Amino acid sequence: MMTGAREPTQSSRRAVIDLRSDTVTKPTAKMLQAMMSAEVGDDVWGDDPTVNALQEYAAQLFGMEAGLFCPSGTMTNQIAIKVHTQPGDELLCADNAHIYLYEGGGIAFNSGVQPKLLPSNRGRITADHVVQAINMEDSHFPTTRLVCLENTANKGGGAYYSFEEIKAIAEVCRARGLRLHLDGARVFNAFVAAGYGPSDIGPLFDSISVCLSKGLGCPVGSVLLGSKDFIRRAHRIRKVLGGGMRQAGFLAAAGLYALMNNVGRLRDDHERAQRLGAALEGLPYVSYLAPVDTNIVIFSVAPGWDAKVLMEWFKARGVLISTMGPGVLRLVTHLDVGDQDVDAVCEILKEAAAAPAAESNDVEAVVAAAAAAATTTTKMNGNGDGARLGDVERESAEE
Ligand SMILES: *Cc1c(COP(=O)(O)O)cnc(C)c1O
Repeated sequence: MMTGAREPTQSSRRAVIDLRSDTVTKPTAKMLQAMMSAEVGDDVWGDDPTVNALQEYAAQLFGMEAGLFCPSGTMTNQIAIKVHTQPGDELLCADNAHIYLYEGGGIAFNSGVQPKLLPSNRGRITADHVVQAINMEDSHFPTTRLVCLENTANKGGGAYYSFEEIKAIAEVCRARGLRLHLDGARVFNAFVAAGYGPSDIGPLFDSISVCLSKGLGCPVGSVLLGSKDFIRRAHRIRKVLGGGMRQAGFLAAAGLYALMNNVGRLRDDHERAQRLGAALEGLPYVSYLAPVDTNIVIFSVAPGWDAKVLMEWFKARGVLISTMGPGVLRLVTHLDVGDQDVDAVCEILKEAAAAPAAESNDVEAVVAAAAAAATTTTKMNGNGDGARLGDVERESAEE
């Protein structure tokens, strides 16, 4: 099976199986067709019918009033934070939240807001911790204004909230006058795994950001959802940040196509991630395998093994994976990874356990051997210290 995926005759189109992130997908022929036949106009003038259709479709799906199409999930999150807060306010989020770790300090840069980090269970915070973190009204303290949840949680290895957990946090926010934002970059993965849907959680949030460019398979784009008034103000901030696009309908068409066609299939990604997790279970170089809840598989590299060497060893065999910090590796399934690819990767994962090269700890030698195959240089921090997920100091994979 593993030779099948790599035989040049069968697949010169994809010599490499890229499991670094679900952002690496390329549009399918049907998605491209939808993009090329899109009706477009100048969206800064509000004239693009396809952008309008996407915004309305997404808003309606979540039972929210309005939507705003943006170039990235970073922008939709940052706009939401900006609209909900004043400089000097405080927001509450998980200690490993994307808005805090991976958006370039945007909370401070764009909004002059400080984050208060709450302890998390694989990226999920609790209503109790939110209650404890709210500052009392006193001019010494920043005003606690906003709570941000992430579902699924990226750094949490794709963990998702239960509906009850979200509801409990939403009730605290309502009772205490806090705004509630969802970083739903992978919220559709949560929907297919958890059994609640967009119209269940939409009413619980003041704003929701959804990425179209992750598991849904679009080349570009995120949608921000909220009330009409919120979106009116978000529209202004998008312009200020330089995110007003002209004939953006070509991109929005991909989003519409994805929302209508690529949601149900996320189940396949989850099933394939399960298989990768099962293949890793018990391998000598795996000291800890995080639960595989959706499409993300994270494991810690056992002492005596070197994460960087393993990554290079996989790369030399056409399998790209990413690092989440020292000694922590990640595999993500997506639209461009099929069952045969997963079969091949499972074999390679097992082969690595017996490979002297992967075990050698001689990074130079393995890197040299892999140099021919190497096309991209990923910054690697693997040091084989068997770090647990909580011990991560630096990360190079953020998507
Ligand atoms: C990818 C991601 C984002 C940001 O998306 P970009 O489009 O890459 O800016 C935000 N939050 C989470 C949890 C993500 O995984």
